[in-house]
Amino acid sequence: MNTKISTKKKLFIYLSYTGLSCFLTTILNVIHTTYVLKFEFTLAAFIIPTFAGLLFGLLLAHIKVLSSQLKQLAFTDSLTQIYNRLHFAHFLDAEIDKVKRYGGTFSIIFFDLDHFKDINDNYGHQAGDAALEQITQIVTNANRSADIFARYGGEEFIILTPETDLSGALIHAERLRNEIDKFDFDTVGHITSSFGVAEFNPETDTVESLFDRADAALYLAKENGRNRVEKA
Ligand code: GH3
Ligand code: MG
Ligand code: MG
Repeated sequence: MNTKISTKKKLFIYLSYTGLSCFLTTILNVIHTTYVLKFEFTLAAFIIPTFAGLLFGLLLAHIKVLSSQLKQLAFTDSLTQIYNRLHFAHFLDAEIDKVKRYGGTFSIIFFDLDHFKDINDNYGHQAGDAALEQITQIVTNANRSADIFARYGGEEFIILTPETDLSGALIHAERLRNEIDKFDFDTVGHITSSFGVAEFNPETDTVESLFDRADAALYLAKENGRNRVEKA
């Protein structure tokens, strides 16, 4: 999921804020001048508030864009533009509350790229970064729209799959593993990845134990030869 503020959205914010501000200041001034002060209406009485409204609207729009950018910086990873670990934790808390209150289930899929240090060493950090961006694209395309996908750390990613039990999440993880395995990455060529999958158990799990179980499954996937999926 790309959360970057687009130029189109910025343009919309600037145009709507300045337009509305100009309109309101001008209308209010026309009403005030003619009906309250009962002055004769002049062109200056029209232009000055329009100009003031324009400046005020620009200021408000600028504050709005800056606050959206700050929010984006706080919640997304700057390289891949997907959610960061902090924002993922918010979604996870909400999903746990939902399942505890209304029932149902969900799973998490934790994955880590195999021998990524060698990729950096052999092809350089920039090629490694490009591969991380390409992986993000592959996984985003394969995910369902309800899935929450985040960069957990360096070359580790995590997906929350709502309303998905362990067997469904294992099938999804296997599909992702295969998509990455068969992809021809720019410069670096072939990359593989290892997956750990865990389904949330509302009776026994906390956030920490769910993470620990997925992490242990990922560790098992590495131990068992990498480029594979293991369940908790
Ligand atoms: P394993 O199969 O056991 O996971 O081996 P690995 O080499 O992937 O694991 P290790 O934890 O030793 O190394 C992770 C590497 O990922 C080292 C680090 O340089 C690289 N890495 C982490 N974040 C980034 C990043 O943002 N960009 C690039 N290019 N490399 C990164
Ligand atoms: Mg790692
Ligand atoms: Mg790794």
